[in-house]
Amino acid sequence: MSGAEKRQSLPISDVAEPLVSVTDVKHYVYCPRLVYFDRVLHAQPVFGSQQEESQELHIEYVRKELRRKDAVYYSPEFVGAEKLLFVPLVSKSLQLQGVVDCIIKTVKGEYIPVEYKNMNSDKGKAYMDHKYQLVAYALLMEENFGTVVKRGFVNYVPEQLILKFEITPSMKSYVKRVVGHIKRIIREEMLPPIRVAQNKCQGGCGHKQTCQQN
Ligand code: SF4
Repeated sequence: MSGAEKRQSLPISDVAEPLVSVTDVKHYVYCPRLVYFDRVLHAQPVFGSQQEESQELHIEYVRKELRRKDAVYYSPEFVGAEKLLFVPLVSKSLQLQGVVDCIIKTVKGEYIPVEYKNMNSDKGKAYMDHKYQLVAYALLMEENFGTVVKRGFVNYVPEQLILKFEITPSMKSYVKRVVGHIKRIIREEMLPPIRVAQNKCQGGCGHKQTCQQN
């Protein structure tokens, strides 16, 4: 499943409910129970594919990738586009926050989120949790820039593979529901069901031992 990720620090909210991060959304899509271990138990993962890499390391390989001459925004489609890097965004309506690696703003005014992964793709496809991470960024961008985001890119750096996909209204609705579920998990300290049978789960989240005790 998915690999090393950056950890996003949560700003302090001025409302009673905690902010949900885009990383929480990504974790929920990977396995809802991972959100419980992270946000309720504050359990430290033993090394797993969902373990977050340091922000410094993430920024370093993204910057390196951005210098590559066939980086995504050098494509002819994006001539004259603006590239915004490491953009922190908050949605007041959703109580959601995240830092977008790169936002391409085309000359026609289209906004496209790009996420960088220091890992291989799922045999040439984007992982589901990575796709929904981008959908969550799309919601943040729509609220902050007053736009409609229709597509996103995931760049699997070791493979130099840039995967493009459509961001549909139903994907956005799903992420809104996920944000609601995450808030409930945190507020009610609710242990959510697992997505994969425990005997089949590889424990890529790094919480296998804790999971078997719950
Ligand atoms: S060990 Fe498996 S079932 Fe348990 S939280 Fe992690 S991914 Fe989910």
